[in-house]
Amino acid sequence: MVRWSHVLTALSLVAAGVSAQAPPLAPAGAESLALVNANLVNVRDGKIVANATIVLRGGRIETVGTGAAPSGVKVLDLKGKYVLPGLIDAHTHADNFAAFRRALESGVTTVRSAGVSNYVDVGFNALVKSGTFPGPNVVTAGYHVRPQMAQEAFLGDPAYADLLTGVTTIDRMRRAVQMNLSHGVDWIKILATDRAGTADTDPRKQVYSEEEIRAIVQEAATRNVPVQAHAHGDEGAMAAVKAGVRSIEHGTYLSDATLQEMKRRGTYLDPTYTTVIDLTDAGGDYDVPALRIRGEHMLPRLRDTVVRAHKLGVMIVTGSDTGYGPASLTRIGQEVSHFVEMGLTPLEAIQSATIRNAEMLRLEKSIGVIETGFEADLIAVEKNPFDTITTIQDPLLVISNGRVGLDRLNFAR
Ligand SMILES: [Zn+2]
Repeated sequence: MVRWSHVLTALSLVAAGVSAQAPPLAPAGAESLALVNANLVNVRDGKIVANATIVLRGGRIETVGTGAAPSGVKVLDLKGKYVLPGLIDAHTHADNFAAFRRALESGVTTVRSAGVSNYVDVGFNALVKSGTFPGPNVVTAGYHVRPQMAQEAFLGDPAYADLLTGVTTIDRMRRAVQMNLSHGVDWIKILATDRAGTADTDPRKQVYSEEEIRAIVQEAATRNVPVQAHAHGDEGAMAAVKAGVRSIEHGTYLSDATLQEMKRRGTYLDPTYTTVIDLTDAGGDYDVPALRIRGEHMLPRLRDTVVRAHKLGVMIVTGSDTGYGPASLTRIGQEVSHFVEMGLTPLEAIQSATIRNAEMLRLEKSIGVIETGFEADLIAVEKNPFDTITTIQDPLLVISNGRVGLDRLNFAR
């Protein structure tokens, strides 16, 4: 005899993608919290305020000061830990509950989707907004627009089935954008050069022309939606920049001319450096010999691009390019540390994961700093990150939308 309660429990666990270790869902609605005895890091100017008190109410930052906690709120004693804005991951393929939780536990309180199936980015963000999950908030992109789009797109939208044979004309590119826009996405993601993570494609090969990308940018702009372009090769990247995309994803082989054009137009660079390290070593999201060989020649090129981009004043942001699956070795805290190795100051590297990234997302009035009225998204770390940048790889406390997503303060030395 079938025990329906067991079946339903199993089904809901499968549907939720919840692992056995996942903590129970927090109650809807944010608690009122006061963080006291914090070393508060101001990511605008790099100043640190000692003994700060931060009051969070209704998912927002209510006050930032140095006084005592108000009565009637739960108090968290930070004991001198360093508090920063929640980190932003501008390039993720997270597509299930466990993955989003891994992102949150790594200190990431906002992600930008770089392409997923079945609009799970739109769905997860709705659950965060409704209070079902603390975060991360998801800036959505839906399906990656490329010559061969993921087939499952057309199970949900059979009216666009003509795109199954290829998104290879301007008319079809516009329709692919429209399909995503009809699901309420915040960004459009496009393929400007071929992929690096598949052995039979060369990432230097241009995929869409400047004219084609311009049509995509114009179509997206009808809903005020910006475009992110996957681009490793220089020609394809230059075409995307000139066509008006807002961010270049990866950028491995960018020339000075392209970087100068990005500087002139204010195009952001999201190098996803840590995932190219993952190509070069065992395990992780990529564990394929051919990609390991490719990664070994890509990595120094990308490193050189980031160094030159920084010197030229191109705005650089953090993205992981991981789906935060169980094998993933890629985290935003590592990306920030690598940026410091490549010449960014610790403050610039932290800005790339906070205020600078918020500007790219056009969310600089709601996230990216710890100030009155902003979303209550913040993390606490053990050490002063300006002295020890790697400290942000190990958040001890993560609060997203005013709700505690991770609390390891008691384990801190
Ligand atoms: Zn990606």
